[in-house]
Amino acid sequence: SRKFIVGGNFKLNGSNEFLTKLVEDLNKGNLDSNVEIVVSPPFVYLDKVRQSIRKDIAVAGQNCYLKSSGAYTGEVAAEMLKDIGIEWVILGHSERREIFKETDEEIGQKVAHALKAGLKVIACIGEKLDERVNNKTNEVVERQLKAIADSVSDWTNVVIAYEPVWAIGTGKVATPQQAQEVHKHIREWLHKNVSPNVAEKTRIMYGGSVNGGNAATLSKEPDVDGFLVGGASLKPEFVTICNARA
Ligand code: 13P
Repeated sequence: SRKFIVGGNFKLNGSNEFLTKLVEDLNKGNLDSNVEIVVSPPFVYLDKVRQSIRKDIAVAGQNCYLKSSGAYTGEVAAEMLKDIGIEWVILGHSERREIFKETDEEIGQKVAHALKAGLKVIACIGEKLDERVNNKTNEVVERQLKAIADSVSDWTNVVIAYEPVWAIGTGKVATPQQAQEVHKHIREWLHKNVSPNVAEKTRIMYGGSVNGGNAATLSKEPDVDGFLVGGASLKPEFVTICNARA
């Protein structure tokens, strides 16, 4: 069976003072040992958070570039994350796709490069509201998934995060049925297009307005293998979300 995984995506939030307190609280927290937990602060705090956080919580970058080094001002390489002891990276987040215009193809290249550098990858996909309204959810998710799948040969270190864009930061969480329906579709796609074994083993996290009040119900769905949490990951209720299945 798949180990439940919960990620905290801090996005562009935090400060030395705030994150020191957050790490102290998590270090004292009563966390379900059957759950894998990953937190993702902004780049400049990665090293400090990694060094001060309990060893059973892993740390992720929120992005990395598709090259190892060179004249790419402002970018950070997967190899650099690896070099400072970071284990994970989040790639293809909808904010990267929308605001920073990352394409399916670039995200595929980033995933391939990060895996090659030895990072584990949380690869994000998900449809926008107008796409859902126009019954394009499956089509969009399949297109994004294909771009990722085309650049992955070993799925051991890949987790998919299904994050419907209309649910991100809106308070409009997907219903357990809506999440389960897409997660099941993603797993069926993997079964058909990658392999039955990869479909069975690959974890699919749900993200979008997850909080301490809705996590337990969502976590009961058979194809929901974890959460990628934004806003609520900066609050004490993150512990409740991590323990949703306990
Ligand atoms: P919220 O939990 O704030 O809706 O954000 C979800 C998200 O984008 C996690 O990556």
